Amino acid sequence: MYNIVSKIIAFQRPTTLYIRSQMPINKIRLLILWSCFLTITAYAQDTELDVLSYKLTIEPNIQNQSIEASLLIQFEVADGTEKIALDASNLEIDGVSGTSVLSYNKVGSKLVIELSPQNQTQHELTIEYHGKPKRGLLFNPDLNQAHTVYFTDQWMVCNNQPSDRATFFLNIILPKGMQSIASGSSLGVEDKGEKALHKWHQDYETPPYTYGFVIGSFTEATEQIGDVKLHYYSSELDEYKLKEVFTETANILEFFEQKSGLEYVQDSYSQILIGDNYQEMSGLSVLAKAYPPFVFKDSSEIHLTSHELAHQWWGNMITCEDFGHFWLNEAFAVYMSSAFSEHKFGLKKYQSDIAIYKNIYDDLVKRGKDRPLIFKEWRPSRDNRNVIYYKGAYVLHLLREELGDEAFWKGIRSYSTRYFGKSVKTEDFKLAMEKATSTNLDDFFDTWVYK
Ligand SMILES: [Zn+2]
Repeated sequence: MYNIVSKIIAFQRPTTLYIRSQMPINKIRLLILWSCFLTITAYAQDTELDVLSYKLTIEPNIQNQSIEASLLIQFEVADGTEKIALDASNLEIDGVSGTSVLSYNKVGSKLVIELSPQNQTQHELTIEYHGKPKRGLLFNPDLNQAHTVYFTDQWMVCNNQPSDRATFFLNIILPKGMQSIASGSSLGVEDKGEKALHKWHQDYETPPYTYGFVIGSFTEATEQIGDVKLHYYSSELDEYKLKEVFTETANILEFFEQKSGLEYVQDSYSQILIGDNYQEMSGLSVLAKAYPPFVFKDSSEIHLTSHELAHQWWGNMITCEDFGHFWLNEAFAVYMSSAFSEHKFGLKKYQSDIAIYKNIYDDLVKRGKDRPLIFKEWRPSRDNRNVIYYKGAYVLHLLREELGDEAFWKGIRSYSTRYFGKSVKTEDFKLAMEKATSTNLDDFFDTWVYK
């Protein structure tokens, strides 16, 4: 059972801090966080299945901590496919219907659907289900709030592979007066008597783990940057304080657009202070309620804002094909966050971040816990997270030193634009960097990434 609290011990000020090995780190600020924590082990991959779209209508009951839902799913399989398996966690299936459905059966966490032999590759079926999600949808009955966090198959039947991108349409049925913030664009709220139907749609494809929503009653602050509306939400801070916490968001967004060579893809980006987690979703991020005091104390401590926003490019749109290449999501988010700090606060701040990452890496080496950035099978542990988040970020720094500033950023732009909206493996990154910079990186990748 998953019960990690992704915690910010972000950049604490005390003079002596300890990493797990009891290695003292004097007078530097230690970042120990695995925001966007992912603790899944590998799901069995069904390479035949390509989901095209999910259309979900969900009614959460916050006091009961339960959901009822109806899902229309369109997918493509090879001609003659007789069976598909979807991830359904501990959801209870009430019915599966569609012209090609022969039968269905819940086997462990999988919903196995038998298809009638038809000469068609595209199918559409409807799944009715209910359940009490334990971790992917977190309820707070006291505050009358709920939010999703990463484990999409806990609240929606799906093919929960990072490589299977699909569009996402979401209807949330809520008591009148509540707010919703979700992936994609809002299509408005329909009056349904005592209830209200909140309609959202995301008409471009991202992996299911990036889908999500937040519901409750919040204070909202907004800013406009070009075509993009920025929304900040909290149930504790006023509008003025919210703008103070997220004051750099517009600058960060512009910086990542410039570094990636790609415009932010949605028409809005929302940040919600809620719960204990830090998690990026498509078009929104949740940040723990414990975050603002760090920013109020030191306005340069905004790594969590920039880390989660970086995932709107590296992670959500340029996605590791499987979790063996997870560093392409997380090390990039960590590194880009430090690159923004350098841009905004100067070289000293960047060097201080890199020193922290190097310390974490040195500590892994000292304890015999260093390992390649690529995993055959991703196993969540503190050390493994430190490898992909912080050794990974340190390796990106070393790559920049190896190539020089101009070539490094040219390579990052080339890689980002080429794989935008696609899945990536480490070799794709290596080849893109080599091609853009006319440099052979065999030795560098052998030393720092593969071995
Ligand atoms: Zn992350």
